[in-house]
Amino acid sequence: MGEAVKKGVRELSPLDIYMLLPRTNCGKCGEKNCMAFATKVVNREVPVELCTPLSEEEKYRDAYARLREILAPAVKEIVIGVGEKAVKVGGKLIMYRHEFTYYNPTPIAIDVTDEMSENELIERVKRIEGFTYNYIGRTLRLDMVAVRSTSNDPLKFRSAIEKVAKITNLPLILCTFNPDVMKSALEAVYERRPLIYAANKDNWRQMADLALMYNCPLAVFSQGDLNLLSSLVKTLLEYGVEDLLLDPGTFPEEGLSETLINFTMIRRNACKGNDRLMGFPLIGVPMTVWLREDAPKEVLQWREAYLAAMLIARYADLLIMHSLDGWVLLPNVILRFNIYTDPRKPVSVEPGLRIFGNPDENSPVMFTTNYALTYFTVESDIKSANIDCYLIVVDTGGLSVESSVAGRILTAQTVADAIKKSGIEEKVKHRYLIIPGLAARLSGEIEELTGWRVLVGPRDSSGIPAFLKEKWPPRGA
Ligand code: SF4
Repeated sequence: MGEAVKKGVRELSPLDIYMLLPRTNCGKCGEKNCMAFATKVVNREVPVELCTPLSEEEKYRDAYARLREILAPAVKEIVIGVGEKAVKVGGKLIMYRHEFTYYNPTPIAIDVTDEMSENELIERVKRIEGFTYNYIGRTLRLDMVAVRSTSNDPLKFRSAIEKVAKITNLPLILCTFNPDVMKSALEAVYERRPLIYAANKDNWRQMADLALMYNCPLAVFSQGDLNLLSSLVKTLLEYGVEDLLLDPGTFPEEGLSETLINFTMIRRNACKGNDRLMGFPLIGVPMTVWLREDAPKEVLQWREAYLAAMLIARYADLLIMHSLDGWVLLPNVILRFNIYTDPRKPVSVEPGLRIFGNPDENSPVMFTTNYALTYFTVESDIKSANIDCYLIVVDTGGLSVESSVAGRILTAQTVADAIKKSGIEEKVKHRYLIIPGLAARLSGEIEELTGWRVLVGPRDSSGIPAFLKEKWPPRGA
């Protein structure tokens, strides 16, 4: 290959970064010294640009360029769209999530076509925008609209694009292989920085000209032929187009394994083989299942749902889908959320006192941990039963009740500290604490340390309403 093999993200040490910094310990980056900054840079907690002497002073130009090169992700990060709703795709540092962290969750685009009536277009785009799901405190959404030219008519396509652009700020994907049709649409919306989908072996030059003229990212399509894909990328890079995305083809049913093998090989070559030509975001198109019109709708939806899930797990950086039904999309936005959370940091909520309904001085007091999944499950069970109560959220560093008890993070002492800090002793006149069933073994120590009487609650928060009905107020209270 002739190029020095770049160190992987796990092999880079703070010293590798430190040696290229100015090493003056001036503190302009907000850190006490250059080594502290280098450690944060290597963990991707801060961008290297925060060292302003490095990024601004001429004498450090070469060192800055070298640092940018060694910190560049294996898969280039590309921005589609503008403003708040713009999406970043790619930017992957590693192949496997457990190696570090995946950045830039796979955006999901839903298609519309230029042969839909105005009402259909508006209704569908509104449904795309309106799809939201609250999951452990985060709002999960769809991200983009893919406008397909099924008419192959430049005026129709432009008109559809204009209507869509008027009613949504979501980033757009313009889908046609016809450069004349693409040009007509781009003239109308190039300022929105849409993704041009797509260049292939027949149209690459015209599509490249459009990408350069309008400064928009370009998708490169080669159906199942990775050598052709690589050669197209090389040609386009030499032609001057730098923001590329790769679509190696998505084949449903019997083509499923070929699809996953191709995606895996491309990502492996980018992350492990230092193959610059494969270091671009991958586009998966689960909506290809709809090309088979002979199967019932539900079967096609089911196929689209599992194909999308497989592609989220296997390296797709952007998906184009068709179905708008919740049961197809919901598992995928949740899967995406879970894959793209940092495995080094449990998803947590702020510790402290939560008040539900209108509790008074006789209302129940419970506690749980600040693991987000636990907290939102408890919250949902309390709210759906309209219970007036206090809930103390104990800081366990985002661990669940069972894990934090086993790891001695949730102890009688942490519960005692949380009670004191919460101010609950001024809010109720009783001293009864309902603890999660999974923390039952702490009950004796909690009683000793806090002076509160412990009632061991259910192991699962869904049992809270029945538990309270039977046990609250406690006898003798
Ligand atoms: S701004 Fe740069 S030179 Fe100054 S302390 Fe930070 S890393 Fe070191």
